[in-house]
Amino acid sequence: MFGVTILGNNSALPAHGRHPTSQIITIADEEILMIDCGEGTQMRIRDFRVKTSKLNHIFISHLHGDHYFGAIGIITSMALVGRTQSLHLYAPAPLHALILTQLKIADSTLPFELIFHPLTKEELLADEEKFSVSCFKVFHRIECYGFIINEKHRPRKIMPAKAEEYNIPLTFYKKLQAGEDYSAPDGSVIKNQMVTIEGKKNRSYAFCADTYYTEAYVSAIKDVDLIYHEATYLNDLELQAKQRFHSTAGQAAKIALKAGAKALLLGHFSSKYKDLSAFESEAKEIFPNTEVTQEGVTYIVP
Ligand SMILES: [Zn+2]
Ligand SMILES: [Zn+2]
Repeated sequence: MFGVTILGNNSALPAHGRHPTSQIITIADEEILMIDCGEGTQMRIRDFRVKTSKLNHIFISHLHGDHYFGAIGIITSMALVGRTQSLHLYAPAPLHALILTQLKIADSTLPFELIFHPLTKEELLADEEKFSVSCFKVFHRIECYGFIINEKHRPRKIMPAKAEEYNIPLTFYKKLQAGEDYSAPDGSVIKNQMVTIEGKKNRSYAFCADTYYTEAYVSAIKDVDLIYHEATYLNDLELQAKQRFHSTAGQAAKIALKAGAKALLLGHFSSKYKDLSAFESEAKEIFPNTEVTQEGVTYIVP
């Protein structure tokens, strides 16, 4: 499964049963990723039965509290339950000093390695066997990054019965998946297409963090399948959105349209709105395949 589970979709003030930003990306069966970790995220994780033992990478977009106040909580709780495997934390540099200070004041040491990766520029952050994550700049009042998560399937799928029939050794299977032909010891060549079929298409997801409307980052997210974009305000507050370095529902939809995405998820709603139905209708006028996110729901990358 490649999906996004929303833990929090509100902006800074929790309201109407909605919580500050955090989401879980399920991409490979063995691992999950977290983007942003607003206050109370560890409670949301319990509510939705997310297994932190599978969580090895946390990405923090920027250092406004509604995106990271939950980080120290989740890290110290991982220590309390005796976590030993390393945790990668990607965030603007000051968060590292902040966490080390909090641990020092509490006279705490972690039983696992916290590997901190400062975000300083647009780059590839993680390159794992089944996924990769890169960051791109968005335009907020302080330094702020969005993230792109890419699936990495092997390009071709092996037909096991066929591969066995031609006595292809297991050690050659990775090369088969990469599209190579197999040369048998007797000199005969087994064409790749005889034992493999086309694999699954790799999909991608972009998380667009707090930003005012600009097309400056559209090229970074061009042709991703699913976009999550902040939509703090409705369209009538476009001026206020710009002054506060945020976007409206219509602006989020314009970004999705220009990026050529298949679907758009909206979040980071201002606490002034209880009913979110207008977010969906305003965005759909520009980009029809839009959904207003709900906490606890997992959205599959199309
Ligand atoms: Zn925010
Ligand atoms: Zn912010």
